[in-house]
Amino acid sequence: MINFLNLKEINNKYEKELLAACERVIKSGWYIQGEELSAFESEFAGYCGAEHAIGVANGLDALILVLRAWKEMGKLKDNDKVMVPANTYIASVMAITQNNLVPVLVEPDSQTFNLTYQGLVESWEEGVKAIVPVHLYGQISPMPEILKFAREKELLVLEDSAQAHGASISGKKTGTWGDAAGFSFYPGKNLGALGDAGMITTNDAELAQVVKALRNYGSHKKYENIYIGYNSRLDEIQAAMLRVKLAYLDHETALRKAIANKYLTQINNPLVELPLVEAGEGHVWHLFVVQTNNRAELQSHLSSRGIQTLIHYPLPPHKQKAYEYLNHLSLPVTESIHNRVISLPMDPNMSEEEIAEVINAVNDFQL
Ligand SMILES: *Cc1c(COP(=O)(O)O)cnc(C)c1O
Repeated sequence: MINFLNLKEINNKYEKELLAACERVIKSGWYIQGEELSAFESEFAGYCGAEHAIGVANGLDALILVLRAWKEMGKLKDNDKVMVPANTYIASVMAITQNNLVPVLVEPDSQTFNLTYQGLVESWEEGVKAIVPVHLYGQISPMPEILKFAREKELLVLEDSAQAHGASISGKKTGTWGDAAGFSFYPGKNLGALGDAGMITTNDAELAQVVKALRNYGSHKKYENIYIGYNSRLDEIQAAMLRVKLAYLDHETALRKAIANKYLTQINNPLVELPLVEAGEGHVWHLFVVQTNNRAELQSHLSSRGIQTLIHYPLPPHKQKAYEYLNHLSLPVTESIHNRVISLPMDPNMSEEEIAEVINAVNDFQL
């Protein structure tokens, strides 16, 4: 059986260090907003090349808190519009609507799955004040073009970097391109906690101050509350786990890239479309997503060969019950993506034999 992702094995590799970190926190007697968090924040900021990093409870909160902070700072107000790729994981859209902002769903490129300059031009509407580019499946969006559009229209840019820790263009990493970025450390992400955690990065000192207060009841100083805030803090124990794993992130990413390069060069089946790589080495391969008109057949063929696959994602946000008021929208590129995508195993610990088995099984697929 080839698992899609074996989390137990991923964390077992670092078990000794994780246990030592855990013990350090237990023995410290300090469990919320302490030294582990500040150390992880400065280490993660350093890793990205951002000036500020602010730990929060999860990736969704990271996005919510940035948009909320921009409202507190007077940069956004209720009912402002925010452009977001229509094929994203639903969290990006929820961060917008949870803030009483209005999502403008933009069709992505059908092969990179990310926003394009042209797509933004075509979906532009009066009232748009921000863009949330999503670096989907680990490939960074074409940020120079997105920033050009943002400058032309005077828009704020919030990168959804939940799937793209360390992804880059010309060496400049996600988390440094936009006005701010939100990261997730959900266990299955490229940098995963042993529970929930998230991070905001920004070079804007004022924004950093506001989100720091928002994550902690709107307070900078105990019992003085300047905003109606949240409880969205990154626990010491998760910060300690993440510090251990951050040191190995580039190593893990290199393993993912090696798998992806084999898939890209050795999968050759006219029934299976490979993803288009625009970011070159800057793609961090959170997922390896192919497209096919015969998804159910491919999935059951691979399953019969003992290979687990997943669908990211079966239904776009605008077709979900939660967004009934968007169900009438017709977004053909996005809908085609959701009907045709299937994710092959992408586990940094796959052996050469397992990688070859996946490639052979995909190449053997026929109708
Ligand atoms: C995982 C994810 C999120 C949310 O992260 P959580 O930590 O699960 O809240 C947001 N956006 C995208 C694109 C994601 O993949």
